Amino acid sequence: MAAKPFASSADLGVKEQTLEVLADGVYALTAAGDPNLGAIEGEDFLVCFEALATPVAARRWLTRLREHTDKPVRYLVLSHYHAVRVLGASAFDAEVIVSSEQTKRLIEERGQQDWESEYGRMPRLFEEPESIPGLTWPTMTFRDRLTIELGGDRGELVLEFLGRGHTEGDIVAWLPKQEVLFAGDLVESQAALYTGDAFHFDWAAGTLDRVKALGAQQLVGGRGKIARGRDEVDAAVEQTRDFLLTMQRTVGDVHRAGGTLKQAFDATHAALAPQYGAWPIFEHCLPFDVSRLWDEFSGTERPDIWTAERDRAVWDQLQG
Ligand SMILES: [Zn+2]
Repeated sequence: MAAKPFASSADLGVKEQTLEVLADGVYALTAAGDPNLGAIEGEDFLVCFEALATPVAARRWLTRLREHTDKPVRYLVLSHYHAVRVLGASAFDAEVIVSSEQTKRLIEERGQQDWESEYGRMPRLFEEPESIPGLTWPTMTFRDRLTIELGGDRGELVLEFLGRGHTEGDIVAWLPKQEVLFAGDLVESQAALYTGDAFHFDWAAGTLDRVKALGAQQLVGGRGKIARGRDEVDAAVEQTRDFLLTMQRTVGDVHRAGGTLKQAFDATHAALAPQYGAWPIFEHCLPFDVSRLWDEFSGTERPDIWTAERDRAVWDQLQG
């Protein structure tokens, strides 16, 4: 059998993008398993959620959005620090770039390495990479919660850190009046989870409980389709939890028995593949996911920084 191509380096097929109106002035762009985006209208301004990997990619989304509204972007909200969500920020001409304090620290600490790592893993998302002017720096940060009044009868947008999860600093964007939640990569709806920078135990327990407790009627996850209605929203949350708990069980068993990382990977792959193996980026993510969880079981508190070199070494060890 031929070796699997590294991460998503051989995934070159263009994905269809779909703009959906979730409520009056609330928009989402989904892309068949590629990163999702959002936008929320205030009375005389826009809040955008996520920025894609390059300004050229982001501009295509903005062109779609401009068919619905020409309000200027006051806030660009970054759910977390990953390159494919933030490096397109300059296209928005936003007055303010918002993230959690933790996310800003992570950009300082590992933003450059993450850029190089993600570019190598999934080059297709980096459309015209030379259009990226540099790292994206948040200009407004908060620790737990920030509320943006939208004006008129639009209600408010609540940005909230609900605990460590997909990264150390993920936030969600919640519209209590419209009951719409942009969950970032804390929830995936029929797409595989990337957990290479995650805190698996916090995420599967308290953090997802708090996401679920918001009671959203529509949920836009980091990737995959929009969940509509409480049943689908809860199913997306529980699918995310099941993925994490299955990993915890299989990796934990091998770790406790004194086995190897490769054995943990094989056991986890076998346990997840029947249900999740066909979902976007499953094979891409799993080596990095298992490697990080293995480190957590070994007592490593914060994720080691992924570099392009470390990516290849782990890939060759587990998927090679
Ligand atoms: Zn991410």
